[in-house]
Amino acid sequence: MNIVDHKKAIAVDNLDIHVINSCNLRCQGCNHLANFGYEGLFTENELVEWINPWKNRLSFKRISLLGGEPLLNPHLKNICVAYRRLFPSEETKLRITTNGILINKCPWLKELIQEYNIHVQVSLHVLNGRTQYPKLIDQVMQGLRLIEKWAGETPRPVEYKWGPYVDSKQKLNFQVFYQGAGCDIKPFKHDNIVESKRHCTCDTLQLYKHNLYKCAPIAYLREVLKKVGVKNNADWQPYLNYIPLTPDCSYDDLKRFMGTQPKPEWTCRMCPPYSNVILSKDRELFEQPPGVASRK
Ligand code: SF4
Ligand code: SF4
Repeated sequence: MNIVDHKKAIAVDNLDIHVINSCNLRCQGCNHLANFGYEGLFTENELVEWINPWKNRLSFKRISLLGGEPLLNPHLKNICVAYRRLFPSEETKLRITTNGILINKCPWLKELIQEYNIHVQVSLHVLNGRTQYPKLIDQVMQGLRLIEKWAGETPRPVEYKWGPYVDSKQKLNFQVFYQGAGCDIKPFKHDNIVESKRHCTCDTLQLYKHNLYKCAPIAYLREVLKKVGVKNNADWQPYLNYIPLTPDCSYDDLKRFMGTQPKPEWTCRMCPPYSNVILSKDRELFEQPPGVASRK
């Protein structure tokens, strides 16, 4: 059980953790860049190791386990159980964020919802994208009905301290932080970091491979550039030199990092200082070929 020293622990509203990098969809403008198809699949032991150095220094109101598509990870059930042991329900909302396509292939979600107070949020990309895929819509709707049933059967009231056990999100407009596509992506170049931050749709704290990052784009940029073969591109070098907060940091370093995290910083120069949003209804999404969830 996690013992948090609330006098010293710094409060965090939400921490995102990738349990997998791959996804079974490729949504244009994905905030976590999963549309670039970079790989990585993590086990409960790895994820416990990542969080261990932080769990007594930060106090998490919510932890979101996502990716990529978390239901592609065969270790997800064990990850959720391990995290619930570390973070009691009274203190932390533990949430899986999924695109819903695989819910009906994961009957163990019932136990996670009913016994471990795990919340499931379904992002309804397939309902809103420019191209409609009836088979995927059907799968997601079946899955949604299933988890709503499981939440409804839960002996405790469904409206728990942290809100309903399951919910869904329809309108997901993504601010695209780069210019171009594929191996031709480029950062924006300007000094108006305040405007970049004002238009940002993905400024959530990330824990990735033991370290804390300001936001998803800066956390996963290296993986993406490696995947598309442009990690030596000069335009991206300043951002590849970003130094995340490592577990050996001092309490003062942590306080400073957490104080700056919600604010505009130099990293925001890579993002557009204006709205560069792809609306849900204009977004193209594609099914990934099978076998994308590899461990590399
Ligand atoms: S479903 Fe779409 S938005 Fe969500 S992680 Fe996959 S590619 Fe990104
Ligand atoms: S660098 Fe700044 S503007 Fe860009 S995604 Fe991160 S927090 Fe948002």
